[in-house]
Amino acid sequence: MAIRKIREFGDSVLRKQCKEVKEVTGRVRTLIEDMIDTMYEANGVGLAAPQVGVMKRIVVIDVGDGPIVFINPKILEKDGEQFGTEGCLSLPGKMAYVRRPNHVKACAYDIDMNYFEIEGEELLARAICHELDHLDGVLYIDRMEGELLDNTYVPEEE
Ligand code: ZN
Repeated sequence: MAIRKIREFGDSVLRKQCKEVKEVTGRVRTLIEDMIDTMYEANGVGLAAPQVGVMKRIVVIDVGDGPIVFINPKILEKDGEQFGTEGCLSLPGKMAYVRRPNHVKACAYDIDMNYFEIEGEELLARAICHELDHLDGVLYIDRMEGELLDNTYVPEEE
């Protein structure tokens, strides 16, 4: 278990396409454990592997109900709409308004490569969309409406 360095905006790893995970090796398991530690250390609600410099399709999210590991995630359905502020651990101190679906259904594999589906609303839906975007090199600032704002309160990784 270790805290990894979070890559910040301007680092080219944040703009790359991530590769599918074929098998959870010991190294991948360590990566996932480190990602969870790093997310908690930074007070984030989500973290994607490219944010720690690894080009793998892995995301961890915790919106308050415990950590969820997503390997090779895909969004199956999205509907509704929410409009609110969003931040990212790779853009510390910043936030912006981003429109997202209010309800998302996604599928992924867990740390034992068992398939699962998950549905989320509000913050979980937002976090799933935000983190999955990272796997394709997309950042919330690509989707923001209006200006990039200073985040003067508690940082949120959504
Ligand atoms: Zn982010």
